[in-house]
Amino acid sequence: MFTAPKGTYDLLPPASEEFLAVRAALVAPARLAGYGYIETPIFEDTALFARGVGESTDVVSKEMYTFDDKGGRSLTLRPEGTAGVMRAVLEHHLYAGPLPVKLWAAGPNFRYERPQAGRFRHFTQVDIEAIGLDDPTLDAEVVALADGGFRAAGLSGFRLLLTSLGDATCRPAYRKLLQEYLRDVDLDEDTRRRVELNPLRVLDDKRPQVQAQLTEAPLMAEHLCADCAAHYDVVRERLAGLGVRWAEAPRLVRGLDYYTRTTFEFVHDGLGAQSAIGGGGRYDGLSTLLGGPDLPGVGWALGVDRVLLARRAEGVPAVESTRCAVFAVPLGEVATARLSAVVGALRRAGLAADMAYGGRGLKGAMKSADRSGATYAVVLGERDLAAGVAQVKDLRTGEQQAVDLDSLVTTLQEMLQ
Ligand code: AMP
Repeated sequence: MFTAPKGTYDLLPPASEEFLAVRAALVAPARLAGYGYIETPIFEDTALFARGVGESTDVVSKEMYTFDDKGGRSLTLRPEGTAGVMRAVLEHHLYAGPLPVKLWAAGPNFRYERPQAGRFRHFTQVDIEAIGLDDPTLDAEVVALADGGFRAAGLSGFRLLLTSLGDATCRPAYRKLLQEYLRDVDLDEDTRRRVELNPLRVLDDKRPQVQAQLTEAPLMAEHLCADCAAHYDVVRERLAGLGVRWAEAPRLVRGLDYYTRTTFEFVHDGLGAQSAIGGGGRYDGLSTLLGGPDLPGVGWALGVDRVLLARRAEGVPAVESTRCAVFAVPLGEVATARLSAVVGALRRAGLAADMAYGGRGLKGAMKSADRSGATYAVVLGERDLAAGVAQVKDLRTGEQQAVDLDSLVTTLQEMLQ
């Protein structure tokens, strides 16, 4: 027997209903804010991620699902959404129209990570991207839309961590300062290499013996240039105006290289180690990295799988599947033909209807009717057929009445109004 590959899982009903509802809720506020749907391929040129996400990141150096296709092209299953969306914006010159270009997307992403609770190799994100402006009011909009998305998905026990990572003016100088500090710290060889490649990631090291040595480390937030500091001030002012609460997180670093200025993460306190339910930020350098014009952008990705876990941790009631309204129970061949047509007509009228298949007897079929959650069961036996009626049973009260077969569909519609 085959099983789903390690680090993946099957979404099955009824939990899958919740997945669909949550995925829709997370982006509902963004759709109200003018974000349009974009769908890009699940695989892209490997070089797009290498360049866009950054060679020094864990995502690119260790976690990508990369393969050669039969034409000898190196392709990679997307590990994140922004690089593909930016590639599409550049390819189709979407930036030639009104700015910002506002887009949302949803779909699976793939990372070869060590699987654990809340960390999968195949996981689903919803994304928004606002491309073309560096207006701090837009940063605040983007952050507020994530906050609103989580609330629409039923969550309340989450926190927003916020900082600014500076830009091409102030970050290189800060990076040098941090490297100088880190070179004097007692670190293992792997981490020393990281100091040279990607020193900001060292700040994110979870080991207590490393953290203990970083208490005095210089922080980007304290070394912002005047422009970045002013930008960040406006972001915070707007967020306060939007009623969004946050905590300053000057040590927040994210796994992807392209972030500049506003950077944020949402964490949920009910999730244990994998507590990030979403994150994002500004990525003003990404377009030029991909060979495009100087095109700033800001966006986020929210983790649908983790939001489902967070809902469970908060005890949010499960989403109910679409409830069956009418369940048909035919007894015999002729009744099956009649009720099959009735069920079809009910569905065309927009009602949820189902029937017993496989020539089941009355007892077993009524059990299925009960299990379906239907409001009414419609039973059609030989005697009913001869009398030109069907028995309509209210499954909530147990009351039963004979309804004329010829007007069964309209009568049921009226009864369900
Ligand atoms: P990132 O693209 O790494 O910024 O991730 C954005 C969000 O996607 C995170 O906050 C998580 O909620 C979710 N996420 C990232 N990686 C995984 C994973 N391996 N499994 C499940 N969810 C993930």
